Amino acid sequence: MTQNTVPAPDGSGLDAPLIVPAGDLLIDGQWLPAASGERREQLDPSNGRTLASIAIGGPADIDQAIASSAAAFPAWSNWPAQRRRDVLLELARLIDAHEAELAVLRSLETGAPLKRKRGSSLAAEWTRYYAGWVDKIEGSTAAPYSAPSVSYTVPEPYGVIAVLTPWNGGMVSAAMKVAPALAAGNTVVLKPADLAALGPLRFAELCLQAGIPPGVLNVVPGGPAAGAALVSDRRIGKISFTGGGATARRIMAAAADTLTPVVLELGGKSADLVFPDADIDVAAATAVQASLANIAGQGCVLPTRLLAHEAVYDQVADKVATMASAIRVGRPFDDGVQMGPVIDAANCDRILGVIARARASGAGELLTGGDRLDGDLADGFFVAPTVFGSVDNASELAQHEIFGPVLSLVRFSDEDDAVELANGTDYGLGGLVYTRDIDRAHRLAKRLRAGYIGINAFPPMPPNAPFGGVKQSGFGREGGRDGLMEFLQVKNVYIGLSH
Ligand code: NAD
Repeated sequence: MTQNTVPAPDGSGLDAPLIVPAGDLLIDGQWLPAASGERREQLDPSNGRTLASIAIGGPADIDQAIASSAAAFPAWSNWPAQRRRDVLLELARLIDAHEAELAVLRSLETGAPLKRKRGSSLAAEWTRYYAGWVDKIEGSTAAPYSAPSVSYTVPEPYGVIAVLTPWNGGMVSAAMKVAPALAAGNTVVLKPADLAALGPLRFAELCLQAGIPPGVLNVVPGGPAAGAALVSDRRIGKISFTGGGATARRIMAAAADTLTPVVLELGGKSADLVFPDADIDVAAATAVQASLANIAGQGCVLPTRLLAHEAVYDQVADKVATMASAIRVGRPFDDGVQMGPVIDAANCDRILGVIARARASGAGELLTGGDRLDGDLADGFFVAPTVFGSVDNASELAQHEIFGPVLSLVRFSDEDDAVELANGTDYGLGGLVYTRDIDRAHRLAKRLRAGYIGINAFPPMPPNAPFGGVKQSGFGREGGRDGLMEFLQVKNVYIGLSH
């Protein structure tokens, strides 16, 4: 790969230079500039300086990438199962072997505080989990019906999968889709968002190193033009998209023309219900960590609407505001930093705009935060951890995905009220319930209209559980057997038997 090695960032703890992808496209095993020659500066969100120059693919590059993936499909889908399994296991091993360096790369490009506790990374876990499925993909037989026969099913790959990922997921977003797609025998054209393409490009390099043949995974970073070319191409067997609702509508419109199936993982405004019998300390700490500190609130499933029962509302609000104001915000490699910047200036301004409108309209009472951080952090895109109390559930603050470190607290009177408020948004991605009452926990798990429910804990995206939304949060699943089946279509073979 064309790559740059740069000195390890101060405080990163790396004892070797850091490998940073050169930002080229990967097409048919070759690292190439975009056909148009276009490039875009990728900025370090913690200081606004240029981090890398990313080639911006367009329709011509997408055309080549799809041709390459289509050509690679027959051989790849016919690889014996154990060979495909082993190459994916090798990929997982390589991701783990580079874990310290990849964690630094992730922090550099997203600004998220460096995770210093070492262990297998989520990208490796998802890859390993789906490697384990390769030799367990099975069909079934049906009883003879009306005439002597044998009827059996064969799960088959679609062909070339179009994978489109947002900027906040990096290598994990890529692995969550690419690993099951490849495990099922498909080939992939991956289009990562141009705002943070380094993780997916490094992932692609490790795929080549692991022995995944050229063309099985092509990677074309780019913006809407590349995305639109990819999702409207008739050679694509299925589209797997993670991103916002507006883009999803455009993708479905394009897919309607070609009748291409789609999986959509979209936004959320997940409710976090806290009942009087809950462990209030744990509930408050999890809300602050998950919805604010964790990637500065830039995650789809984060519980950004905390609904507390009126009997404990004041206690919860007090704890949450105190913990939020104590979050140490800073650059990702500084000691003790708990929360980093948001991704870029445009998103920083957008988030501050939502906060300003909420303050002006009285949609909620600002309990802490609300401003951009200045001083030492003025050159990065830092928004203070922000909490609004007594929020009107009908307001923009409670209804719209903010994708920044802004938490809204809403008061409820009883279980029915809580369910009505929780379900009262267009989204349906996640839901959290804090209670020690087992009946209530099960009742609410059933009544909440969301695809991913956590009881007394925020689920850590394990690869063996299905993840995805309902309503405007999308459809289709990632993770578990359901996530694998998204990349397989079932053929039935009927054999008539003579007497
Ligand atoms: P986005 O919708 O702007 O972009 C997502 C991807 O689509 C990018 O790769 C982008 O280049 C591409 N794209 C843009 N226009 C296109 C078009 N016309 N045709 C095809 N592709 C096009 O989203 P974003 O701002 O990068 O990410 C934030 C959004 O992603 C949020 O709404 C967030 O909730 C959502 N998200 C969802 C999940 C999930 O799993 N449910 C996970 C992470 C992020």
